[in-house]
Amino acid sequence: ALVLPREPSVKFRRDHPQLFNLSDNHAFFSRFPLLPTPKPKALFVLGSSGTGKSKLAVSLALRFAGEVINSDKMQVYDGLHVITNKVTADECAGVPHHLLGGVHPDADFSAAEFCRLATTIADEIVARGHLPIIAGGSNSYIKKLIGVDGGDFSRRYDCCFIWVDVDLTVLDEFVAERVDKMVEKGLVEEARGIFDSAADYTKGVRRSIGLPELDKYFRQEAEVDEAERTAMLEEAFGEIKANTCRLTRVQREKIRRFEVEDGWRLHRVDATAAVVRRRELGGGMVWEETVLGPSIETVRRFVGG
Ligand code: ATP
Repeated sequence: ALVLPREPSVKFRRDHPQLFNLSDNHAFFSRFPLLPTPKPKALFVLGSSGTGKSKLAVSLALRFAGEVINSDKMQVYDGLHVITNKVTADECAGVPHHLLGGVHPDADFSAAEFCRLATTIADEIVARGHLPIIAGGSNSYIKKLIGVDGGDFSRRYDCCFIWVDVDLTVLDEFVAERVDKMVEKGLVEEARGIFDSAADYTKGVRRSIGLPELDKYFRQEAEVDEAERTAMLEEAFGEIKANTCRLTRVQREKIRRFEVEDGWRLHRVDATAAVVRRRELGGGMVWEETVLGPSIETVRRFVGG
């Protein structure tokens, strides 16, 4: 037969009065260690200029309810859509993009300001139930956000890094062709619009590759003949290509240092085949298979785990 203890609840009440006294609840629970609250998650899409970060960020945002925070230090400024290669409204595909423009071209937007704004925006994105995706190649911004002197972002957020990498010689050819396309889209007119003979190319948006290289042309175009103008433009385009190729190397090296020196765990995806394919045939499924697919797997593990 089932033997019930006598007056179980009364005994319990007598031995553990705290459980039944609301005013003592805090004292009671504080004797036990609290379970840690899971940190909100933030995804980073890193990569040199021309590796296809923006497209990947948008595709991942569509898949994982993300919003993109731009971390390219020249794209935070207003204007220069062509020269800085900003994503178009079409390419955004309805995904909200933050810090893409909005800063006055003459302002010197600092890494500290980026860090402060990006943190506030990420908090707002999380409050909307979305995933913040920080995308861009400017490592001083990323380092400020994640590094030891970068405030509390890395303490408060669980971060995952995807590194879109492309063989540099393949990337060289791609960025050179991209400069030719930028010229077709109005690079020279865009640069002329911001040209100022007293401009300081070490401040604000004027640091963008594409502006200092055309300075000599704008100063002299009115005084030289057509053949000379064409030659000067060709020279400037050559410099823009060379400087962009140099930038991709420096950016790649800085990303590698995040891994080697800072010990960050980067999920590297190799987009070389996709870039080759994009140049030859305009895409196919290579990008989906070699870049998007592995990245989706990484993010699925990250957000699911
Ligand atoms: P640094 O500390 O040398 O400025 P960083 O890692 O913070 O480097 P990068 O994105 O590598 O930032 O930018 C370095 C330089 O490359 C910029 O100052 C600018 O001259 C050029 N640059 C970067 N992004 C662009 C862009 N989208 N368009 C044109 N030029 C750019």
